[in-house]
Amino acid sequence: MGTGRVVLVVAAGRGERVGGDVPKQYRMLAGQPVLRRTLQALLQRFAPGEVRVVIDPAHRPLYEKTVCGLGLPEPLAGGPSRRESVRAGLEALAGDPPQDVWVHDAVRPFVSTALLDRLAEALATRAAVVPVVAVADSLVRRSDGAVERYVPRAGLARVQTPQAFRFDLLLRAHRTVPCGDFTDDGSMVWACGEEVATVEGEEENFKLTTPSDFARAERVLATRRTVRTGFGFDVHAFAGDRPLVLCGVGIPHQRGLAGHSDADVALHALTDAILATVAAGDIGVHFPPSDPRWRDADSAQFLRYALEMLALAGGRLEHLDLTLVCEEPQIAPHRDAMRQRLAELTGLPLARVSLKATTTEGLGFTGRREGMAAYALVTAGFAEGEPT
Ligand code: MG
Repeated sequence: MGTGRVVLVVAAGRGERVGGDVPKQYRMLAGQPVLRRTLQALLQRFAPGEVRVVIDPAHRPLYEKTVCGLGLPEPLAGGPSRRESVRAGLEALAGDPPQDVWVHDAVRPFVSTALLDRLAEALATRAAVVPVVAVADSLVRRSDGAVERYVPRAGLARVQTPQAFRFDLLLRAHRTVPCGDFTDDGSMVWACGEEVATVEGEEENFKLTTPSDFARAERVLATRRTVRTGFGFDVHAFAGDRPLVLCGVGIPHQRGLAGHSDADVALHALTDAILATVAAGDIGVHFPPSDPRWRDADSAQFLRYALEMLALAGGRLEHLDLTLVCEEPQIAPHRDAMRQRLAELTGLPLARVSLKATTTEGLGFTGRREGMAAYALVTAGFAEGEPT
């Protein structure tokens, strides 16, 4: 018997019945794919190296995008059914088997650390553990739209995932139990005549199957939402021999701005404001002016990088407000083009892209037309409980 454990996340399904053109585990939930939210919940307790996702190889590009930055090992190839996917995952691990294996549905993103703790504690002394939730509703068997008979609910419970097992026990169950109506792994172990222990599951740990489940999940996340603001500021001096770029838009003007990159003072302030929402330092930390790679660089790439860092931390840009300070050039004739470009770069609707301009009445360095300044303020939304 090996040591350690592997958590298999079953994500090979092709089910598109909830609607949309991607399988439900890749559908967006409050700005993040469901699978990513599920993985982030598991990574609250497990090391990235312990988590193996079982996928349909046809989804590989979608998967790569979904798990970007989480540091997971290579995914495993699944099969056409849930059972075959788990089996394929187990067989892939059988060469160097772990002591324990956990199996979790990709579409249960609300698994809590407390539940994972209860399962781990029970697995210390038992060979198979599943979480269950008592049935509160009355139960019937029905046929032809009428009650055939009432089913006493005492002692009945609904079974969830994650489910935790000794690896050799679950592998044996998958290898020996004949085909049948098995909807989870605990039932197969039980069919082998082995004891399956239970711990308390959680109502919140529901499975996303129908459109109403997705609507419920959106409501849950909305109540957990937190908001952060970020501030950014930048200054560049005018230089005679360069093109002027503001908010990613080339502005016809007799002077540009001096700087190592394209010196887009507006995008620099905006990039710093976005980095601030995840406390990730400033643009100079990530793109040092001493690095020749950023000479004359398009500052849009700095902005995209900051947006990626925000997304990796579980956040989503909600609004931005930029103020440009200069006596020249005139901003008003270019405002629409700049807002349009900012909306393109950030993915925000135009109504959430604010751009203002002011002079300093001839005072200070901007008043003397020596340079420009930009101030940026952004708002980002986060679902509480994200790991970073
Ligand atoms: Mg700058």
